[in-house]
Amino acid sequence: SVQGSARYALNQSKHERHGELVFFDDMMLNNNRKNLELLGALRRSILNDCSDFYLCYQPIISAKEEKLIGMEALLRWNKEPFGEVSPGIFIPWLENDPSFFDLGNWILKRALTEGKQLIKHYPDFILNVNISYTQLARINFRQALVRILEETGFPAKNLCLELTERCRQLEREYLRNEVTYLQSLGIKIALDDFGTGFSSLNLLSELPIDTLKIDRGFLMGIEDNIANQAVVKAVTECADNLDIRVCMEGIENRELINFVKKYAVYSYQGYYYSRPIRMEQFLEKYLDYVS
Ligand code: C2E
Ligand code: MG
Ligand code: MG
Repeated sequence: SVQGSARYALNQSKHERHGELVFFDDMMLNNNRKNLELLGALRRSILNDCSDFYLCYQPIISAKEEKLIGMEALLRWNKEPFGEVSPGIFIPWLENDPSFFDLGNWILKRALTEGKQLIKHYPDFILNVNISYTQLARINFRQALVRILEETGFPAKNLCLELTERCRQLEREYLRNEVTYLQSLGIKIALDDFGTGFSSLNLLSELPIDTLKIDRGFLMGIEDNIANQAVVKAVTECADNLDIRVCMEGIENRELINFVKKYAVYSYQGYYYSRPIRMEQFLEKYLDYVS
């Protein structure tokens, strides 16, 4: 019922958004009912051992030699009658849900298990996994991660965790401590989606990050956009000075590569090389090179 949904939204906002009505705005105002059904189905999937979720992987290619150097794990959910729903839609809803911590650990465990196959063939291969700031906010995140590393036998030095700017919602000292701890294990840290939301170069100097991923929004139409060119130039120079590697996301064609070559870019990711694909396809595509 509408009353029920309103009560639900209010509870959510009280408990998880510290009284803001963001949640209500985001998903309740339009398609209220359909979205609640979807959220319920997603929750049931999580409770049911994360059934209906799976991971796809997108290659990350070195700018210098255009060789495979890593991949990003990307979450997928597919369930009738909803079909495939984009993580860009459901993660912002779910990440504040108590069930998300279990899903986050499932993602890590699955990605590290599947990713191990590539480390055997490419010892320097880097597996990127997206982490929500709400996972990092849990004091037992460290413990869960260390356990997953042990269980899977995945080398920490081959793992890169992608955080977004939204991690700034965490207390500054806490965030710094967590990131420093993860790096002490050998894990790399990437700042994702740079260029969306409230990006600031501040975070680059505040946090010891290894990689900066520039959002594809910045690249769209960059050939004719002097302002974006200036920003990309400044950001890549700044990152270079701080010894931070830059990954360009959303590379869709050769022209774009030729255009961004003049910036200090370390790696590329985008449909031009491959869409996110299942692990079987990934192995088919990239393993016959070596063996
Ligand atoms: P992201 O981490 O920035 O991931 C990159 C997104 O850009 C992916 O969308 C990918 O499919 C898409 N993409 C890659 N290359 C191209 C391109 O050349 N053109 C275009 N148009 N798009 C490209 P996807 O898989 O829909 O994921 C959306 C967002 O959902 C991700 O953005 C990330 O923020 C979040 N997400 C996905 N998987 C996870 C996860 O396991 N955990 C968490 N916390 N968030 C996730
Ligand atoms: Mg990412
Ligand atoms: Mg991104």
